[in-house]
Amino acid sequence: MFVDSHAHLDGHRFDADREQVIARAREGGVETIVAIGNGDGPVNFDCGILLAEKYPFIYATIGIHPHEASLAHQAALDRMAELAKRPKVIAWGEIGLDYYYDHSPRDVQQNVFLQQMELARNAKLPIVIHCRPSDNSQNAWDDCLRLIREQWAPSGLGGILHCFTGNSEQAKRALDMGFMISFAGNITFPKAQQIRDAALEVPLDRILIETDSPFLAPVPYRGKRNEPAFVIEVARQLGELRGISPEEVGARTTHNFYRFFSLHEKRTTV
Ligand SMILES: [Zn+2]
Ligand SMILES: [Zn+2]
Repeated sequence: MFVDSHAHLDGHRFDADREQVIARAREGGVETIVAIGNGDGPVNFDCGILLAEKYPFIYATIGIHPHEASLAHQAALDRMAELAKRPKVIAWGEIGLDYYYDHSPRDVQQNVFLQQMELARNAKLPIVIHCRPSDNSQNAWDDCLRLIREQWAPSGLGGILHCFTGNSEQAKRALDMGFMISFAGNITFPKAQQIRDAALEVPLDRILIETDSPFLAPVPYRGKRNEPAFVIEVARQLGELRGISPEEVGARTTHNFYRFFSLHEKRTTV
């Protein structure tokens, strides 16, 4: 059994076969999926919720991605605060900083990140963090971890560093603030030795796995559209690193997921 802790199932690339993709995941042992509710920005950031309300084994997030931070006007923030009250919403995200693409100005990204941490605190939801520095730099990590420490850590709500690409020191700083570290398909890429090194330093009970579908398909599907069923390849890579089976990685990370989100009672079997 596996949990895909992060998938963008709303994307147009799933329009033709979304139901089959979800069915394939279930057949492959993926018992729960988190549908990330960024959409294309405020026009459809209920996209994760719509899926979660249709499928009992899908949960949702709500949030404005740093790419779309420029679109975070007050009405959008107010609407997210309302949507966050829906019962299937379990986290706020993905939010954070992306200095690689700089689709929104960095000061705007930081402001919107802070505003959303405030909303998440009011909603008592953990946060899902996206952090990507510019090339050969740690700039986004430095800012992101500092803002989390100053503005979020005191809440005690914790969060997830999604699609982790940092180093073991950055992972440790997040772990110390109650965060989970989620690994994605890029951990299987030949050049991703730093991610594999960091993954070995993270205690197994603090690890989650994800696909970030439709992006970042793992080896051997690299370059193709990613989908939740492929999360087993992330488990396989983590298992190889630690000398355990993909099934054991799946069981441990699934347990971590339910524990972190206190979902034991609500767990569904369909
Ligand atoms: Zn991301
Ligand atoms: Zn994502």
